[in-house]
Amino acid sequence: NESPKFLAYPFSLGVASGDPEADGVVIWTRLSPDPLDGGRLDPEPIRVEWEVSQDEAFSKIVQKGKCLATPQLGHSVHVELTGLSPHSWYFYRFHAGSEISPVGRTRTAPKRMDMPDKMKFAFTSCQHLESGFFNGYPHMQNEDLDLVIHLGDYIYEYAGRDNRVRKHLGKEVESLDEYRLRYSQYRMDEDLQETHRLFPWLVTWDDHEFDNNYANLVSEQDGISPESFLARRMNAYQAYYEFMPLRKRSFPQGPDMKLYRKCSYGQLADFFVLDTRQYRTDQPNGDRQKPMTGKVFDSQATMLGSEQEGWLMGGLLNSEATWNVLAQQVMMAALNRGDDKGARYSMDQWPGYEVSRRRLLQFFHDRKISNPVVLTGDIHLNWVNDLQLDFKDPKSPLVGTEWVGTSMTSAGNGGNFIPEYERAAKQNNFVKWYNSNRGYVSCELTKDHWKSYFRATPFVTKKGSPIETKAIFMIEEGQPGAHLVSGA
Ligand code: FE
Ligand code: CA
Repeated sequence: NESPKFLAYPFSLGVASGDPEADGVVIWTRLSPDPLDGGRLDPEPIRVEWEVSQDEAFSKIVQKGKCLATPQLGHSVHVELTGLSPHSWYFYRFHAGSEISPVGRTRTAPKRMDMPDKMKFAFTSCQHLESGFFNGYPHMQNEDLDLVIHLGDYIYEYAGRDNRVRKHLGKEVESLDEYRLRYSQYRMDEDLQETHRLFPWLVTWDDHEFDNNYANLVSEQDGISPESFLARRMNAYQAYYEFMPLRKRSFPQGPDMKLYRKCSYGQLADFFVLDTRQYRTDQPNGDRQKPMTGKVFDSQATMLGSEQEGWLMGGLLNSEATWNVLAQQVMMAALNRGDDKGARYSMDQWPGYEVSRRRLLQFFHDRKISNPVVLTGDIHLNWVNDLQLDFKDPKSPLVGTEWVGTSMTSAGNGGNFIPEYERAAKQNNFVKWYNSNRGYVSCELTKDHWKSYFRATPFVTKKGSPIETKAIFMIEEGQPGAHLVSGA
């Protein structure tokens, strides 16, 4: 349809961009006049035009084109731009019929061989809508960022529950239309939508984009057949693709979707975006906290799957970047959460896959990978961890650093004293800091150092929280291990 008439403004889900390269980015929108009522569009293709400009007023348009928003993809549009200048800001917008989208702003990466003076990005995860308002995002918008990284739990799949700050529409999501509605509800949040409008994003998922603590074909609950689980996974992955600014390389193939990929920021940083859910073997000994015994040491157990692990190691060997960043989901440091009855580790995290974990850390060490830095989400707390080759030996060499970002909202206001974690922070010598506030982390990279600013919103159950920087930690190039700069 070339001159569609819409019941209401069709761009109410906003615009987004992502996966920056030196010569382009992907720009995204989705036509949906009534996002909370299935979109309300006829099931036919709609022509969408796009424009890219060097200025916000669109007086310096550098590219334009057309594409089709098809009903098969929920009238979403993903345009992969090429031929743009490196390390530059651009503005973009879409037209459908007589309607014009909001103006998005995005930024390309520097050229492969260039060393930018600095780069700044923010990362966050775990934005359970019912737990609060996304109070970190308005503050993130005021930062001078090149990129935003989301480490997953972008939505939660659970049914709506009463007496929360906000309420999910509908029951636990399973069908494609239910996942679409859930993403629409989240993206209608103005603080989230505005942050997509202002920066390119690099996204990956964790478990709640599909189902809590899933592992490949295995549900958290028993008794669900692999067939019905795969059918649901197909719906979840398709909706994720439809709503995220992803390239065609991530296009879902039935219940499979290749989300792991690399994003280079000149010679300064290579970002390896990982998927620790789709290919992992089942959590050993159940998902909970257990001693490191039995299947934890299964040599066939895997967190990444052999293909992704091979890709990661190959990419790290070929990397010429100062900082090699793993943007991923679950905690890599072997955090002993036990008590005087014995050591206990989370079986859903890397220590539950100890052979995989050690293989990667040994690889960092043996192949002298330049400055490995691991970004982690999932657990709704900040942790600063030095990654040791052998966590049981205090003299073991440091091979990297792990920044664990807290949640945007999940688990509510936070900032409270948690005895279990106070104990864990004390009894694990590689832990430099932990914190239970909500918020996000801003990272500033130069060729000489990495500074991480741990931003906290004191509350999320009301709108309008201030922002506090709880701590600043730094890594010096060539010297793994985090140093406190201020706060904490
Ligand atoms: Fe979460
Ligand atoms: Ca999670």
